[in-house]
Amino acid sequence: MPADNNVMEKLVSLAKRRGFVFQSSEIYGGLGSVWDYGPLGVELKKNLKERWWRSMVHEREDIEGLDAAILMHPKVWEASGHIAGFTDPLVDCKHCKNRFRADDPRIKGTPGQPDAQCPVCGSRGTLTAPRLFNLMFKTFMGPVEEAAAVVYLRPETAQGIYVNYLNVLQASRQKIPFGIAQIGKAFRNEITPGNFTFRTREFEQMEMQFFVKPGTDGEWFEFWKAQRMEWHYGLGIRREKLRFHQHTKEELAHYAKDAYDLEYEFPFGWHEFEGVHNRSDFDLSRHQQFSGKKLEYLDPATKERFIPYVVETSVGADRTALVVMCDAYREETVEGETRVVMRFHPAIAPLKAAVFPLVNKDGMPELARRIFDDLRRHFNVFYDDSGSIGRRYRRQDEAGTPYGITVDGQSVGDGTVTVRDRDTLLQERVAGDRLVSHLGDKLKM
Ligand code: ATP
Repeated sequence: MPADNNVMEKLVSLAKRRGFVFQSSEIYGGLGSVWDYGPLGVELKKNLKERWWRSMVHEREDIEGLDAAILMHPKVWEASGHIAGFTDPLVDCKHCKNRFRADDPRIKGTPGQPDAQCPVCGSRGTLTAPRLFNLMFKTFMGPVEEAAAVVYLRPETAQGIYVNYLNVLQASRQKIPFGIAQIGKAFRNEITPGNFTFRTREFEQMEMQFFVKPGTDGEWFEFWKAQRMEWHYGLGIRREKLRFHQHTKEELAHYAKDAYDLEYEFPFGWHEFEGVHNRSDFDLSRHQQFSGKKLEYLDPATKERFIPYVVETSVGADRTALVVMCDAYREETVEGETRVVMRFHPAIAPLKAAVFPLVNKDGMPELARRIFDDLRRHFNVFYDDSGSIGRRYRRQDEAGTPYGITVDGQSVGDGTVTVRDRDTLLQERVAGDRLVSHLGDKLKM
């Protein structure tokens, strides 16, 4: 399918206009590939994170939560292989001083050779041969900026889990197989970021590392692959836009025994937004070697000792938010007019309902306010009394609010209100004092 940049443009503009996503430091011209979440975006992302946490940690007895710090001992990154291997080959243009990934499709010819042409200034023979560039952000700890004080902003949350594996095991009295889940920020100095929030330099990951006995890793790998796809189906993402991609031998990371990407068909093509990896015993073995601390597991039943294998599920919170925004975005014709609607699954929609007095008189605003005050104790709801009712519905369609509650003349008489469904546009009359349970039932999905 050809890339539909038009949809992305419209989505980026809606995201800004309605307060989902803003460019970081916009009044200063923006900061490259760093984004801020506005009032609706923060709710959307928070709902996604909470849903992930509930399904991983609260609904399972064999997974524990963790919140490790972003800054870690620098040796962690030696052990993990990030200092040596977390690199992209880059080329510089000696003329215009721009920097590119060596595999940038815009480069013509072979970098380092006289035929190579810079994609920005067009000079020939000015591109250097590729050099490796580490994607980790460096900073200094303490008052002195010297080599010994270098620490890194973590490029993934997984290492915080591995180094705490024994702590969690002992504190929780779990037995293998068990997992540790974490949500947190990660940082990568990406060279060709872009596509809105798809590839950013600061992002959040939701990672779960499942520790298993060697030999059972294949089964657990299949289990978690299936679970994760189900989870995305559960968000209401169109099934035909989701698929697995198995890593080829060339794509497999040095530590991985097997790996699948979960891909979504974005308007700019099929791309990964989650990885499920069989990481073997690579990580714990390396941390055992570099820290000198035994990380073996003693099986209480068989008395066997082994270093567990790890099956990892790693999904970006921001990339998932982008998936659900792309998937939700629709332009529809209703009564001869185009409406833009974000068809979010009600469970992750930023606002669950909006309350409207039909007109601002005859007791309607007072009743609408009472209903709003009652609902807001249970759900994130919005009150809107400005403009025609049609316009107010459209505004909520763009925000992806699943239910619109209108207080009209009849409401003042008999206490009932209309509840409009964002997707079907059907309206039903419901007793005002039953709204909390009525909406609660609909939102429990
Ligand atoms: P890519 O190939 O897109 O760079 P990756 O294979 O390096 O991704 P992983 O290291 O497996 O990604 O990270 C797991 C998940 O973290 C990704 O599927 C994605 O959702 C998220 N992620 C990784 N890098 C970024 C980034 N720069 N911006 C936003 N999300 C990211």
